[in-house]
Amino acid sequence: MESSMDSTRAVRRTKEEKKLLRRQIKASLTLLKHEGINTVTHPTKHLVVSNGGLGNGVSRESLLEVLKEGGTVESLLTPPGKPYAFVTYLSAEAGQNAYSLLNGRALQCHDQSVTLYFSYVEEVDSDRSVSCALPPGLSVLEDFVSPEEELQLLQAVDWTPDTDVTVQKALKHRRVKHYGYEFRYDNNNVDKDKPLPGGLPAECDALLQRCLADGHISVLPDQLTVNQYQSGQGIPPHVDTHSAFEDTILSLSLGAKTVMDFKHPDGRSVAVVLPERSLLVMKGESRYLWTHGITPRKFDVVPVLEAGGSGVITSDLNNLTLSRRDTRTSLTFRKIRHTPCNCAYPSVCDSQQPPSPPAVPVAEGDACRLEAQYVHQVYEEISSHFSSTRHSPWPQVRDFLLSLPPGSILADIGCGNGKYLGINPEVMSVGCDRSANLVQICIERGYEAFVSDALSVPLRSGSCDACISIAVIHHFSTQERRQAAVTELVRLLKVGGRALIYVWAMEQEYNNKKSKYLKERTTETSIESSEELKSEENKSNPQEEHDRKISSDMKCTEEQNETQPRIHVHTNRTAFLSQDLLVPWHLKGNADNNKGAATGSTNGLLDNASQKPVFHRYYHVFQQGELEDMCCGVTDVKVLRSYHDQGNWCVELEKTLGSSLKNDIA
Ligand code: MN
Ligand code: ZN
Repeated sequence: MESSMDSTRAVRRTKEEKKLLRRQIKASLTLLKHEGINTVTHPTKHLVVSNGGLGNGVSRESLLEVLKEGGTVESLLTPPGKPYAFVTYLSAEAGQNAYSLLNGRALQCHDQSVTLYFSYVEEVDSDRSVSCALPPGLSVLEDFVSPEEELQLLQAVDWTPDTDVTVQKALKHRRVKHYGYEFRYDNNNVDKDKPLPGGLPAECDALLQRCLADGHISVLPDQLTVNQYQSGQGIPPHVDTHSAFEDTILSLSLGAKTVMDFKHPDGRSVAVVLPERSLLVMKGESRYLWTHGITPRKFDVVPVLEAGGSGVITSDLNNLTLSRRDTRTSLTFRKIRHTPCNCAYPSVCDSQQPPSPPAVPVAEGDACRLEAQYVHQVYEEISSHFSSTRHSPWPQVRDFLLSLPPGSILADIGCGNGKYLGINPEVMSVGCDRSANLVQICIERGYEAFVSDALSVPLRSGSCDACISIAVIHHFSTQERRQAAVTELVRLLKVGGRALIYVWAMEQEYNNKKSKYLKERTTETSIESSEELKSEENKSNPQEEHDRKISSDMKCTEEQNETQPRIHVHTNRTAFLSQDLLVPWHLKGNADNNKGAATGSTNGLLDNASQKPVFHRYYHVFQQGELEDMCCGVTDVKVLRSYHDQGNWCVELEKTLGSSLKNDIA
């Protein structure tokens, strides 16, 4: 702590000042500890600002002004009533810069002065951020245009019936006009080969050049949509079609302010004030994953102190007032995308859907076909890359294996690359897997392994002292087949023999603990054990909303008459929205090592940026109690224990001398 402070402080201070500052920082750390905030000593992009909270009478605006001196602020979180705030900068370097520059800074607030103290935190706890933080990647730049420019821009939009250079539509709830390219509401896309003559109005040039110079965009937009909302009008929640437009979307609010609602697929929602003359910048997660919309209303509830300002509307009821909506004109600038979208949010990406999403199967034949395409074939094609990400055994599986007496016979049904076959050298281990390529890897490692389906293993009944089935049964697509896999496992066991089963859990948060998978959201899917997934509280009925959104955003052209729900693509490291899902696997590394990866795949889509295929694996994630109930439905079985381990549901079974066996003997 001390060394990093001394070495990073660029500001010259006297010895006494330094000593005092150090003591005060120490005191602030004690306070933070009481709040359950864990600070770290190494620089990160996230900092907690002691004394910089709403509870200290510090306003978001005055705090933000100071924070901006340290670098570009990605997000600012001001929990209601708390004496601290969280700020996230673009990088750890920027965080370190802010730390050295701003620690001990006095901030004048109304008639009192507060001293700000900064500490690094590893992450900003999202639970703390309920309705307080802007969605990641979102910013609202106030007073981006002057009142004169505003007038000029409003006059540039000619609402008189059409000239041939623009397309104007009177939609049910608002007036809209397109420049550059027409946006079609029938397929939520643009005709990329049919640009409108005339391009964007020249009046926009200055403001777009400013966006370019300030780094909000890296290329000039080529499409402009002008929307005019009368008081009481709005726009339904939606995600701008990924395949139609590039990442950054700019939206300028003119004439009046409004409130825009942002919603995460897991149910979290954030209401953001867009003041008149402000520029909304949507990038990354806020652009791709969150929906945005404007609820049709004549009045908005906005914060009192920030009545003219932007920001998130918090639940602080003492600080809210009504604001009348007037006619608002928005200018939304977008850049047409000419290659498929390659974002990290496949669940909402129209470029990353499998050609024809399968339905949840009911009939045995459909289940077999689904598993052949979305399980067997995929593992065959990703085997080498998959194997390179699977090396550390899970501790509780290891403990189970080490608890087996010497000389035991162990079968690992669905052994993958064989990472459990050599854990206990005192037992005779044999593995099998449906993937010939994975079995080949086991054999090359010197293990006993053979190709077999887990529903019919060519081993004698009662021949094993122990069996394990780790991350296998969740790949069967009907309840009957999942239970049959347990029955087959039990068939192999001798009476008194034990089996350990792991399946992926719907509940990724258990006993208030989130898996590290959740905490380390990256665009990678190849991290060790993708079976561990993140979690988040599943609110109300996110699936319903998700379905609705997907169908309106992505499938608006094809009205599918379906009785069985389609299986959605899951976005890695987000909450599960349904039990049956397709989990993307982005193939990395040397494609030559992955047999058949580049060709002959009916499942792989090309990840356009890297020219590496994306595969989809089918999973059925288990709800609490589901695995245990299923095992209890199998004869001659006693459940020894049932537990949650790193985002998995697990049971340990013992084969008993049940009625069926007794009858056999009699
Ligand atoms: Mn939009
Ligand atoms: Zn996308």
